[in-house]
Amino acid sequence: MQLEKKLENLPTGTGVYLMKDARGKVIYVGKAKNLKNRVKTYFQKGGDGRLLVQHLLRRVAAVDVVLTDTEKEALILENNLIKQFSPRYNTVFRDDKTYVSIKIDLAKEYPHPQIVREVKKDGALYFGPYSSSRAVRETLRFLYELYPIRKCSERSFRGRKRPCLYYQMGRCTGPCVGLAENKAYREMINEVVLFLKGKREELLERLKEEMMREAEAERFEKAAELRDRVRAIQQTIERQKVSSPSLIDRDVFGYYKEGREMSIQAMFVRNGNLEDIATYNLPIHYDNPEEVFSAFLNQFYSHTRFIPREILIPIEVGDAPLLEEILTERKGQGVSIISPKKGEKIRLVGLAMRNAENAFRARHSTPQRQKAVLQGLKNALNLKNLPGRIECFDISNIGGRFAVGSMVTFEGGLPNKNRYRRYRVKTVPQADDFAMMEEVMTRRYKKAQVGAIHELPLPQLTIVDGGKGQLGVALKVMKKLGIKDVDIVALAKARRGDPVGRPVDSRQQTVDRETETQDRVFVPGKSVPIFLATDSPELLLLGRIRDEAHRFAITYHKKLRQRQFYRSPLDEIPGIGPARKARLMKCFGSIENIRQANLKDLKELASLPARQAELIYHHFHKDRE
Ligand code: SF4
Repeated sequence: MQLEKKLENLPTGTGVYLMKDARGKVIYVGKAKNLKNRVKTYFQKGGDGRLLVQHLLRRVAAVDVVLTDTEKEALILENNLIKQFSPRYNTVFRDDKTYVSIKIDLAKEYPHPQIVREVKKDGALYFGPYSSSRAVRETLRFLYELYPIRKCSERSFRGRKRPCLYYQMGRCTGPCVGLAENKAYREMINEVVLFLKGKREELLERLKEEMMREAEAERFEKAAELRDRVRAIQQTIERQKVSSPSLIDRDVFGYYKEGREMSIQAMFVRNGNLEDIATYNLPIHYDNPEEVFSAFLNQFYSHTRFIPREILIPIEVGDAPLLEEILTERKGQGVSIISPKKGEKIRLVGLAMRNAENAFRARHSTPQRQKAVLQGLKNALNLKNLPGRIECFDISNIGGRFAVGSMVTFEGGLPNKNRYRRYRVKTVPQADDFAMMEEVMTRRYKKAQVGAIHELPLPQLTIVDGGKGQLGVALKVMKKLGIKDVDIVALAKARRGDPVGRPVDSRQQTVDRETETQDRVFVPGKSVPIFLATDSPELLLLGRIRDEAHRFAITYHKKLRQRQFYRSPLDEIPGIGPARKARLMKCFGSIENIRQANLKDLKELASLPARQAELIYHHFHKDRE
């Protein structure tokens, strides 16, 4: 009652609202143009449509608001409050990466590149920040090897009476004791700056010109030194995987979502060169990917991080114009946030999306994680064995024609393509998926049972694509062959109104029988299917295996159909292989000409043996004979 009363008294201005639980803990922070209207939508029937709201509302005991002058201020405040309270129902991005930058203070008499953690407004040049300090150290090592510039700290530089070992090795010109000529030293630093700015082509041009001048003046030692520098820089250019014709600084984002996790990939492109890549993993509790990505982006730039001129994102984000304004103000220069649709920019976003998926897969394919999922599957489906090796069958045909079966194998939760098998259905002429499945499974397990040399050993779990009927067929095959130790399940897409099984453990969930559409698992001895939670890793694994079996079957089925499409009447004549077929077509030009040819022509023109020529002739003239 109190809450309802408070809602009525909410202001209609712009600002931020904080939802709190009964203990006063902030559990959600949001911003709104009209606070009263926005907050009220949560409490209307059906909420604001997000699944999150149902969970959130069960816990909300109070709503506080903070008014701001503009939406931009509201976005900044929202970010700060999320960072401060880490509310349970917000997507909270914690950037635990340690960033480093390279600093060159040109105001110093003998500047040199240094690694620093903090970017200060002190007039020095800063490059980065980079998320990989190892890569930064390697870059500096490369530059220190290429240029005989100082490598020591400020303190060591000031206190020296004699140059250090670097001088003796020829890797420093010794500015600490006045041995270096300032103009030549500055030249080197300018080149280092060009390199770090990514203007490597410009730097190469400069070095090549200098090399020519030195060679013409017959200073061959210096020319050789420059040649080595040119080569080393050329190699770094070749190593650049992503280069963009536009030489501006941009951050490119991609994401990949599966189950309750999202991997976001950020590619930091500086002067057209990909300087750094970082991956961030976020949990997805209740929101959709767009909301999570939007929350991430807002929080990402609220840290003291370098702001590029352009930010490329894979989806439209509602707050992008506000964020653009905030970042433009902070940078003091125009910043654009673009969700590209075509051209070079969409190519870069596509690359980030692919990288995000790779990063996600790499993270989830560790043996420990896979083992945990397999153990989860064993518990959820009450299996006898830990399903270390899983085989899955699918059938593909069109009205009984071009009928094929596929079997894919997953070991330790990952596909093993060497152990995939495909079958051309031989004994079932009509459209009968059950009979086809029986034939394919019998062929597979009969050989395994007798220990055929090239046949694979039995798996721990067999999955069939389908429902109760397919499960019955699989059980029949195993019984017929006397195979007892293999677990068998069937995986089917749910239909509306399916009866719902009781949950076996926390991985299972009951579903709304009228509306829910999700995969269901049939197990032996149970009349109702098991529903695993939609985004559980166990169901995702089962779905991935079933989809792979489907892909493998349909690819073979399509191949057979195509082969039929290109089939020639000559294929029906026994003894006419591809070589003779090609020779006949070369001699006569078309099937019609072969049909018109007499026996003599067939023998002589195509140099066919008499028996083959007769076979062809009779094949085309059997109606007349
Ligand atoms: S020679 Fe002098 S300036 Fe060069 S690295 Fe050694 S101490 Fe530093």
